[in-house]
Amino acid sequence: MENRFLKRLGVYYVGVLAVLLCLAVYGFVSGVKSPAGGELVLIYVAIALALFMVFALIALGHYVYHDAERRGMSPVLWTLISVFAPYFIGLIVYLVVRTPLPTRCPSCGCAAPKDSVFCPKCGKPLRQKCSACQAVLQEGDQFCASCGAAIEAR
Ligand SMILES: [Zn+2]
Ligand SMILES: [Zn+2]
Repeated sequence: MENRFLKRLGVYYVGVLAVLLCLAVYGFVSGVKSPAGGELVLIYVAIALALFMVFALIALGHYVYHDAERRGMSPVLWTLISVFAPYFIGLIVYLVVRTPLPTRCPSCGCAAPKDSVFCPKCGKPLRQKCSACQAVLQEGDQFCASCGAAIEAR
């Protein structure tokens, strides 16, 4: 879904550039001089670059919006901050403070906060526990970090 949006955005960008190119060629053929007296080609390149920035900001806003939504943060607020704060400061702040992605429950598929041990919706365990001391294990542990018991692979 993310990729489809970016692809469509790219198509729009190329489309707008093509229209601009047609206008530039038309202007060149009909001998129109730009009001600033500069080269039409340079103006065309400048507009293309400015448009690229606009489209890049749209893509960035789209990414932040959906990322914040998935993490249970305010999508609108973080999109505005990331897009409008100068020099991408908003984006950097967002990347630093964003909450970790929630864990997906393998039984019911609902999103649980990252460090949850049990699913808040269906109560099924989200993580393996040590059979000796009941400490929560990390993914891929060979031995329990609390009591040293060997973990049999599942
Ligand atoms: Zn569940
Ligand atoms: Zn243990």
